[in-house]
Amino acid sequence: MNILEVKNLSKVYGEGETAVRALDDVSFTVKKGEFVCIIGPSGSGKSTLLHLLGGVDQPTSGKVFIDRTDIYDLNETQLAIFRRRQIGLIYQFYNLIPILTVEENMQLPMLLDEQRVDTKQFNNIVDILGLEKRLSHLPNQLSGGQQQRVSIGRALISNPALMLADEPTGNLDSKNSEDIMELLKMFNKTYNQTLIVITHDERIALQADRIISIEDGKIAKDEVIRP
Ligand code: ADP
Ligand code: ADP
Repeated sequence: MNILEVKNLSKVYGEGETAVRALDDVSFTVKKGEFVCIIGPSGSGKSTLLHLLGGVDQPTSGKVFIDRTDIYDLNETQLAIFRRRQIGLIYQFYNLIPILTVEENMQLPMLLDEQRVDTKQFNNIVDILGLEKRLSHLPNQLSGGQQQRVSIGRALISNPALMLADEPTGNLDSKNSEDIMELLKMFNKTYNQTLIVITHDERIALQADRIISIEDGKIAKDEVIRP
């Protein structure tokens, strides 16, 4: 079953002479449970693509279906709710809210929608991420690796259909990078959580089921390495 379907997706920033075609008629599908890495040179359109998959930007043309929902056909409020429930986003610089505790940061997507947090599931995620003793801390009291674990927890809390990560280990040392990738892969394999990761790191790309290379806003190569 395809969890993601991207159809003729294009994104142009600006207009006239200074317009930049960041994404140029990109189409592909991703199966539920797949682990896909997106690679490509700087400026090739990887972040633009991930933002469009995550519903955080508007495409110039084309469509994104997540679990058969045409996400840019939703109105702003519907899209915000869909995003919080169905899309987990992880960034290089964590994007945690500095004045909220670890527990509050992790539960935020649920609290914003007035959804009940399943305590058992929450405790299980906290346990896997090794954050039991950190729940009442603020983000700046944590190491980088711990902050990234909190952002993974926040992305997982609503059990989303799709996990999207933009250079999730880009700011971490090699030990922490390995740990973070092991966690993401564990949720991918154990819970069949579809995972799409942008990376510059070849060692990470080679762990994926499939590698999509982006060049000049187009798919230059799409290779399945683990069928
Ligand atoms: P990558 O993630 O592969 O480095 P990006 O998707 O960030 O590439 O950028 C693709 C192209 O779009 C680049 O030429 C970049 O300069 C341009 N771009 C990205 N974001 C914006 C923006 N907000 N406004 C104008 N141009 C942008
Ligand atoms: P790492 O080796 O993971 O980068 P650090 O050397 O940054 O970790 O931190 C070591 C330990 O000290 C971690 O358990 C972290 O949670 C804790 N720590 C780091 N910075 C602070 C801080 N500002 N306040 C409280 N605890 C901190």
